[in-house]
Amino acid sequence: MEKVSDYFGSMVFDDRVMRATLSEKVYRSLRKTMDEGVPLDLSVANEVAVAMRDWAVERGATHFTHWFQPLTGVTAEKHDSFITPSPDGGVIMEFSGKELIQGEPDASSFPSGGLRATFEARGYTAWDPTSYAFIKDKALCIPTAFCSYGSEALDKKTPLLRSMTALNKQALRVLKLFGNETVKAVRPSVGCEQEYFLVTKEMFDKRPDLRFAGRTLFGAKPPKGQQLEDHYFGAIKPTVAAYMEELNKELWKLGILAKTEHNEVAPAQHELAPIYAQANIAADHNQLMMETMQKVASKRGLVCLLHEKPFAGVNGSGKHNNWSIGTDTGVNLLSPGATPYENAQFLLFLCAVIKAVDDYQDLLRIAVATAGNDHRLGANEAPPAVVSIFLGDELTAVLDAIETGKPYHGAEKKQLKLGVDSLPSFPRDATDRNRTSPFAFTGNKFEFRMLGSSNSIACANIMLNAAVAESLRIFADKLEAAEDFEVALRETIRETIREHKRIVFNGNGYDDAWIKEATEVRGLTNYRTTPDCIPHLLDEKNVKMLVGLGVFSEAELRSRRDITLDNYCKSVLIEADAMVEIAKTQIAEAVLEQETAALQCALAKKELDPGISSDYETSLVKKLSAISEQIAEATEALAKAADAAREIEEPVPQSAEIRDSLIPKMTALRAVCDEAETIVAKKYWPFPTYGDLLFGVK
Ligand code: ADP
Ligand code: MG
Repeated sequence: MEKVSDYFGSMVFDDRVMRATLSEKVYRSLRKTMDEGVPLDLSVANEVAVAMRDWAVERGATHFTHWFQPLTGVTAEKHDSFITPSPDGGVIMEFSGKELIQGEPDASSFPSGGLRATFEARGYTAWDPTSYAFIKDKALCIPTAFCSYGSEALDKKTPLLRSMTALNKQALRVLKLFGNETVKAVRPSVGCEQEYFLVTKEMFDKRPDLRFAGRTLFGAKPPKGQQLEDHYFGAIKPTVAAYMEELNKELWKLGILAKTEHNEVAPAQHELAPIYAQANIAADHNQLMMETMQKVASKRGLVCLLHEKPFAGVNGSGKHNNWSIGTDTGVNLLSPGATPYENAQFLLFLCAVIKAVDDYQDLLRIAVATAGNDHRLGANEAPPAVVSIFLGDELTAVLDAIETGKPYHGAEKKQLKLGVDSLPSFPRDATDRNRTSPFAFTGNKFEFRMLGSSNSIACANIMLNAAVAESLRIFADKLEAAEDFEVALRETIRETIREHKRIVFNGNGYDDAWIKEATEVRGLTNYRTTPDCIPHLLDEKNVKMLVGLGVFSEAELRSRRDITLDNYCKSVLIEADAMVEIAKTQIAEAVLEQETAALQCALAKKELDPGISSDYETSLVKKLSAISEQIAEATEALAKAADAAREIEEPVPQSAEIRDSLIPKMTALRAVCDEAETIVAKKYWPFPTYGDLLFGVK
């Protein structure tokens, strides 16, 4: 038997390889860049490039590529071969430090939201030495950031790295105030749980909606859905088990610590979670993971659906972003500590998060907004579009006690004097039982649950890092200027709790009463759709914070607003067009066939003996005939609405038109087609049903 430890990370130019292949001096210099962000010089890059090339060529690589994450949401790569002709007519394999550090893909076809005029189509990619290079499909992939020549970010990684820099800077200021001089770096860590569906390739191919849109645009409810909840954590079917095994192996080779896997609530739905890593690496890994999930599926006659809502009426797929901040010395800053000082520090960082989430609720909602995710957030599914924090009763009681100055009646019943007393120890596991909260404290990290399954995790973490950096900046400004640190600390914590406790909610987030309370009493925002929230990216407070911390320029924010809305519009328009085509060319036809069969039967009966009842057939014909008319009408209305929406050029009004006019017409067409499905014989129905798809993988 092959041992996992033999091949884990075998396709990654990781620390083990670096140590083995680089000179001591170059290794140390590279490590310094990776750990502390010290700039790298070309001589170091040259030696690293040679070592990387030799290592990659030995493992069968023939090409190299700068691997990046443009604003399309997927990854991009352009392969160059290592081969350079040699004077003797042969070839040598070449790869220089310059090629490692910087690349120049033809950037003209990536969205830039007006940042890059077409005549200035060039953009460049720059090596992110903190994320290991790896081999995929015979190409050495170098994780990179992607910028325009004016240095505007054209990708999701650049702002993520900038947000990490901002967080590092402000967190270090705060740690210093607590007397901590040894910490050199503070980094966010992220572990994300990825949900997905598996269907058979054979059925997938027969469903044009799945092929075009990644989700079903039609489909009546099956008799059995997730009512019995027998799938959750249930036994894994053999085909799925084999898929997971191969997937794990491929991910392990890429150094991705895939760890837990299980069935999810809906039939055919599963989850995969890796062990957490530094945020930018976790973002790279999640992209690679999604790609590998699809690749392995297609090799095994399956299709992995990453859409947020592949099936109406069945749980959608999300991605839980577990987030914390830790020091290079191994301390988790969101873990309650053992000493009074550590606890005061923990409380301050906790307050920084609470303030950040309250002040920038809208940015967190914006970070996860896509057409697909609109089917989860704000629809009848968890979590709601209202952002709130779950802290658990214990921690909430601690904060209450601090705010009011009253004794804390927790397990240890004692007066909490910040910075003097230690906190009671929290029963950590008990805090993670709320599954409806969009943002839950789980003992030593927060779980942000609003991400859609297909989202890049970069966006959510950019906003989280930036918002928390901003809280820390404000705290540090205040505390650095204070005469008495302890007094100022206590005040800051108390004030923050008082001002921001409205964002804390420990109850059931699905409850309608909560949404009412959140919006009407607490004044929290509730942006149900992408067009509702995205324009707020440019709200003054958001621009001020993000530009102030150097995470985005104003031009970049503008471009991102336009690209996100444009993407929303295009996705929904594709769905609308697909619906029109499917309804016209497949569903209408199936209804007609059923109608004809019923009609023929009725006529044949009459001919045979007018005394035989043909009431059933006649009523079926009437019903089908009415449905045919309705389908034709609804299709026509949808086609018209799509054309009208297409005419609008500006992304803000276009997206609003799509939300208000197009989507309701899609819903109407679907309703009548789904009704048809329930009365048309299966043999006439043009594609596999929900029942087939959801229970088709053995
Ligand atoms: P659950 O399903 O209960 O939410 P899982 O075990 O499936 O929990 O996922 C927890 C995720 O949180 C894992 O990816 C894990 O690595 C990650 N995690 C644990 N500690 C941290 C941390 N300090 N920072 C970020 N993520 C963390
Ligand atoms: Mg979870």
